[in-house]
Parts: sequence; C-alpha cells; structure tokens
Amino acid sequence: MVDTLEIAAFIVEKKMASWSDLERQFVGPTAYKRSLCPICKSTHIIVDQDTREIVCTDCGFVVFSKHRIARQTLLDYIKALMKEEIIEKAINKETNKPVYQATEKGQKKLSDLQTKQRIIAMIAQTTNLQETLKEILKNLEEKS
Ligand SMILES: [Zn+2]
Repeated sequence: MVDTLEIAAFIVEKKMASWSDLERQFVGPTAYKRSLCPICKSTHIIVDQDTREIVCTDCGFVVFSKHRIARQTLLDYIKALMKEEIIEKAINKETNKPVYQATEKGQKKLSDLQTKQRIIAMIAQTTNLQETLKEILKNLEEKS
C-alpha cells in the first residue's frame, strides 16, 4: 500500500518530482469495474481493506493489485510530508515549473529509515546472528 514513506522515497530517488510525475506514479483506479473473477467466473469479489487488493473469495485469485491511491489521498500525503518538512516545493530551473524535492532533513530521515529496514531484513534472513550483528556494526561504523 502506498504510504508517505514510499512517496518520499520516490521524490528522493528522482531528485525532484512534479505533481504530474507523482500522479502518474501513484494515482489510479481504486476500484475494479468488472465483477467477474477471470479465473473461476465467480462474482464474489471483494476489496481487501489492508492491501487494497481486489480478491476473489472463491478461488483466492488477486484480480487487481496495483498499488494505487486516490488523487485526494496523494494530495493529503504530500501536505503531510511538507508539514513535517520532509519535502518542499521548489521551481525546476529548466522547465520553470513547480516541483517537489526532499529537504535535507527529509533525505537524512529517509536514509535512516532505509538503513533500519535493511537491518531488520538482514536479521530476519540470517542463519548466523552473531556474524550478521558484526556485519551490521561494521556498516554503521563506516557510515558515521
Ligand atoms: Zn475466482
């Protein structure tokens, strides 16, 4: 599911993003128009509220799972990120059009969050916790 972190990561990766870049990436249909499962032809189609996936309850087929949000939700997330000073509005000097870019604080916060996620993934996958912890410590020392 698209959240503010995913949007911030997208902006950091692209350096700057216009509203239409963001729209193209994140906004899309949040409902599925057809009511038949293409696999088993069942009409028991539901929207999973957590994942926003559209699922057939009879055969379990995921009919629609594009991670998209409504335009208004995107706008709300952008506002929240600006309020937290993670991103800011700027002018793209080449196109003279308004864009969103990450603030310094935003870049740091995002990089910290990504480091945290990487560490969690390393610990989850490890077969030798002691070695993994040593490796993490080494990474952290190199970073600072
Ligand atoms: Zn089905």
